[in-house]
Amino acid sequence: MSLEGNYDPDNIFAKIVRGDMPCVKVYEDANTLGFMDVFPQSSGHMLVIHKRSKARNLLDVNPDDLAHIMNSVQKLTRAAKATLNPDGIIITQYNGAPAGQTVFHLHVHIIPRYEGDLKPHASGNMADMDELQALATRIKAGF
Ligand code: 5GP
Repeated sequence: MSLEGNYDPDNIFAKIVRGDMPCVKVYEDANTLGFMDVFPQSSGHMLVIHKRSKARNLLDVNPDDLAHIMNSVQKLTRAAKATLNPDGIIITQYNGAPAGQTVFHLHVHIIPRYEGDLKPHASGNMADMDELQALATRIKAGF
């Protein structure tokens, strides 16, 4: 899918927002949701989305919605640093399939980095749900 197109209300993150799909939630406020990535590139990989925005990518998001997303990204990044003690943290966001985007509901990745430990994007290895839940519980202690 290219940079242009219509928002699909049945994309996987829209289903998570509606509660039609489960997720391991780390953070929620009136506008945004932060949850564990089920195919994590590293331990503590999280995603932040807006709950009502119909933006597919960075190009079509309302700046106010983007501000809400980035506020939550900073909050979760600080919590990840405080609780997981990573060596670094990648904040990334893909626009369009050729750039690596696979879910077309705007989202920002928070990927803690530990020296020598990073899996490629979209590597397809699903995480153990109990491990994700334990990580989410640890990160929540950092708010
Ligand atoms: P993108 O490739 O669009 O930048 O990122 C989509 C991300 O969503 C990927 O990192 C992928 O692992 C993650 N993902 C895909 N399906 C699900 C799902 O059902 N639940 C969760 N929590 N993450 C998902």
